[in-house]
Amino acid sequence: MKTSPKTYSVEFLSKPLTDVLLVATVVFTASLFGILSRPVGFLAAIWPANAILLAMMVRNPRLSTLTNWLAAFVAFIAADLITGNNFDISLRLTIANIVGAVVGYQLFMRLAPEDRELSRPISIVCLLAISVLAAASAAAVGAGAALMLFERSLIVGFTSWFTTELVNMLIILPPILTWQGIPDWLRGRRHYTFFEALPVISLVVLTLCSQIIGGPGAFAYPIPALIWCALSYSLFTTATLTLCFSVIQIIALVHGFQYVTLRDDPLAANISLRIAIALIALGPLAVASVNAAREELLERLNHAATFDSLTGALSRGTFLERAEAMLINANGSVAVLMLDVDHFKSINDRYGHFVGDQVLAQVGNAAMKATRPGDLFGRLGGEEFAAILPGVSEEEALAVAERIRLAIESVRVRHPDGAIVSTSASLGLSLKSPGNTESFLNLLSRADDALYLAKERGRNCIEIKLAA
Ligand code: GH3
Ligand code: MG
Ligand code: MG
Repeated sequence: MKTSPKTYSVEFLSKPLTDVLLVATVVFTASLFGILSRPVGFLAAIWPANAILLAMMVRNPRLSTLTNWLAAFVAFIAADLITGNNFDISLRLTIANIVGAVVGYQLFMRLAPEDRELSRPISIVCLLAISVLAAASAAAVGAGAALMLFERSLIVGFTSWFTTELVNMLIILPPILTWQGIPDWLRGRRHYTFFEALPVISLVVLTLCSQIIGGPGAFAYPIPALIWCALSYSLFTTATLTLCFSVIQIIALVHGFQYVTLRDDPLAANISLRIAIALIALGPLAVASVNAAREELLERLNHAATFDSLTGALSRGTFLERAEAMLINANGSVAVLMLDVDHFKSINDRYGHFVGDQVLAQVGNAAMKATRPGDLFGRLGGEEFAAILPGVSEEEALAVAERIRLAIESVRVRHPDGAIVSTSASLGLSLKSPGNTESFLNLLSRADDALYLAKERGRNCIEIKLAA
């Protein structure tokens, strides 16, 4: 676990009033929601306030000031008082809520930033560990209040509090921690085909089945659909769907339209099922996280295979592959261009490889910018590059080549000792007319011959070799 002491210290200076109002409003509203969903004689079935407060602080550590924590404290008490609790009980419940959130916050801020966003598979284990510790801290403080409130034993008070808090944290924290701005499906920008929507449709169908069919294992019926969602959608979308699944199952459990008759010890069975629902929800989250990490890795590998890391031009393999395809599909004439930096070895010898690399990077960049949209530009190796210019006449190909030559000529790199390094390149062109079936390798070889001619003629110039 990494520490970042700067972000988790509680500041004593108050931030602007808007922050205080934001924290107080969110906590007050979430508390009211929890109180209204509270069955008589029990702690709230879904108590989102603590998890929302914790997630809000973790996402915006600048909110973690003493003033804002006090604002949260006052908001908890206010919500409880206006809904009829007495002050003594409200105070105890609130202290427990705040203790849970503060413990959770301190632990989260010891994680690496990517774990706070749940973007690594191991982050899900961290989420579970922190939720257990935060819930246990809140329950240790809140057990006494539960005892006064519901006249149950201390152990029952602790267990109910711990369960509720753990479940709420496990299902509410993930969507907030993985939020990356409004997703496309929420903006209505992305329209899913029926097949793309199938995972979520199957989730709805299996959730309905679990309610209709019933039985002790029914709450697990939607799991395959949730895993399918995790493999198909983003981490945030999976976390949100998991939250919906868990909330529906918990409401069904609490309100009795349940798959199982909780005969002998309803409270124990209730607690056990709630924990099961929340722990099951971790599975799809872990799958989504592994999937997101795999996709990011594939994207990076793909980028590394497609582009040359020094110059940003296409890599040799990708260039040759795409060039062949472009030639096959081209309707009009196509020009193939090869370029080689002049006396590049002497730049390395005089100024060192580091400056040589900088020159090469800038040459690649300048030449690429001088091509037209739709042209292909790649690094063949060393200080040699090539381009495919589709749909050009001989004059147009020469004009593009001249633009590239001039762009390379104007490259300037500053050596650490102050010297300004400039360079030039020689270019060779070959042209394929529309009816011609000449292979790409032949065209490249003709352009290479033209390039050698340009070198012989004194460099920093363009030669063209037309078909025999
Ligand atoms: P010419 O005008 O005849 O092309 O001369 P030249 O010196 O450019 O040609 P030569 O083939 O003799 O040298 C090419 C040099 O390019 C040799 C090699 O060390 C250097 N080179 C190749 N790839 C890189 C690179 O990625 N970075 C640096 N700094 N140098 C490279
Ligand atoms: Mg060379
Ligand atoms: Mg060279």
